[in-house]
Amino acid sequence: MSVASGRVVSVTSDATNGRMVRVRHASGYVSQYLHLSAFAAGIHAGVRVEQGQTIGRVGASGLATGPHLHYGLTKNGAFVNPLLEHRNMPPGDPVPASELGRFALEQEKALAIFSTSSSSTFPPTLAQ
Ligand SMILES: [Zn+2]
Repeated sequence: MSVASGRVVSVTSDATNGRMVRVRHASGYVSQYLHLSAFAAGIHAGVRVEQGQTIGRVGASGLATGPHLHYGLTKNGAFVNPLLEHRNMPPGDPVPASELGRFALEQEKALAIFSTSSSSTFPPTLAQ
């Protein structure tokens, strides 16, 4: 899923990165997603994507020892630490009141998926 809205700059496939999608965002950021098993339908250079939109499926194409999402973020062409950069980004729009019910449902579904995954310590205690 794209981390933010933006425009797809490239959809490529090679022996190292495997299937890779790169998305340009505001403020000079480009996010990249490597080793995908498949591209989502309609994902090609120039297409606009929204935050959370599926752009491909996790896989192990290219030089990967197992399936994982290899995520990278650059700002003005230089790789940056996503964990630090994401902290400095403006927050997304709040969920509109009219969508709060649907949001709670999706949140519940997602947490149910996490709680049935292999790690028994996930999810961590949620702050209220
Ligand atoms: Zn990787």
